[in-house]
Amino acid sequence: MTRSTAAIKKISASAPKNVASPKPTRKVRPTERKCSIASTVGILSDAWTFLVIREAFFGARRFEEFRSGLEITRQTLTERLRRLTREGIFREVRYSETSSRVEYKLTKSGIDLYPTFMALMQFGDRWLSSADEGPLQLIHEGCNAVSKPIVACSCCERRIVAKETHYQDGPGAGRSSVDASKRTRRTADDFMRGRPSSVSQALEVIGDRWSFLVIREAFYGATRFDQLQAELGIASNILTDRLARLVERGVFKKRKYQTTPERFEYLLTPLGADLHGPLMMMMAWGDRWRAQGQPPMLLKHDLCGKTFTPVVVCNRCGEPVHAHNMKYRMRYNPDMFGGSKSGRAIVPGRV
Ligand SMILES: [Zn+2]
Ligand SMILES: [Zn+2]
Repeated sequence: MTRSTAAIKKISASAPKNVASPKPTRKVRPTERKCSIASTVGILSDAWTFLVIREAFFGARRFEEFRSGLEITRQTLTERLRRLTREGIFREVRYSETSSRVEYKLTKSGIDLYPTFMALMQFGDRWLSSADEGPLQLIHEGCNAVSKPIVACSCCERRIVAKETHYQDGPGAGRSSVDASKRTRRTADDFMRGRPSSVSQALEVIGDRWSFLVIREAFYGATRFDQLQAELGIASNILTDRLARLVERGVFKKRKYQTTPERFEYLLTPLGADLHGPLMMMMAWGDRWRAQGQPPMLLKHDLCGKTFTPVVVCNRCGEPVHAHNMKYRMRYNPDMFGGSKSGRAIVPGRV
């Protein structure tokens, strides 16, 4: 790969960029950068959709298992299961040849969300749980040890952090018009339903789809209100609201950079910067399942100098972590949270 430094941009955790922001005019339809993170965010930023997928990782397959585990209304559950089937995350399988009833099984792309869940879980354990201990203890079957998986470079297997990662345009780079249907303002979602979960806590801190995208832009170097607005085509009142919320949740710190008139910039805190790993896993999933072989961005790791794919690896043995090779111990009583009672083999396996 050519080291065209002009085309390589730093994924920065703090440094404000001295780039003039294009000012959107009224005549131009708002556009946003093409980025595979957005397709994964589209799935995980809806609380019910996320919770249904989570229950599937705990072994739920049947309508009643999802319903009782989450205390979700039949109508909402039906809608989410349909949507997830349409999006290829679940497939419908009949109970038996004679039955017309169906179960919902995770497809390959659904199971492939597991490393993203692991990255979010570790973030939640590190920052949002007491004493660095989340509700689940993970055991990696590969090395049979208690594992705290990390987001790593596929080439050198070392942990990736924002300041050592650069990106450049990939074959699918460009901008697309803002999809108004995905841009409606929603009320705050409740990610905290059902069983205790560090993934829920992480998603609850991040918030909704807009907040995800604001954080993403921070990793691309945007620190100021007008930069964020220009990059995302977001309405001022929504951006104001999301920035205030993200400051309150400790993702950004607000710093005055000009006195008259008063202007502020928004810098990722150490907690915010640690969301890099989960966002990189979302990008990797989107690249694999939504980009049709045309990833909008290529990532480069400074430590090894190579173009890489982010992977979640066991922190003990360095092997990639998959749903089928992880087990877990629950630090809570699962009987209190409904869900799967069938005793079938579940993914991942419980110890
Ligand atoms: Zn590397
Ligand atoms: Zn291991």
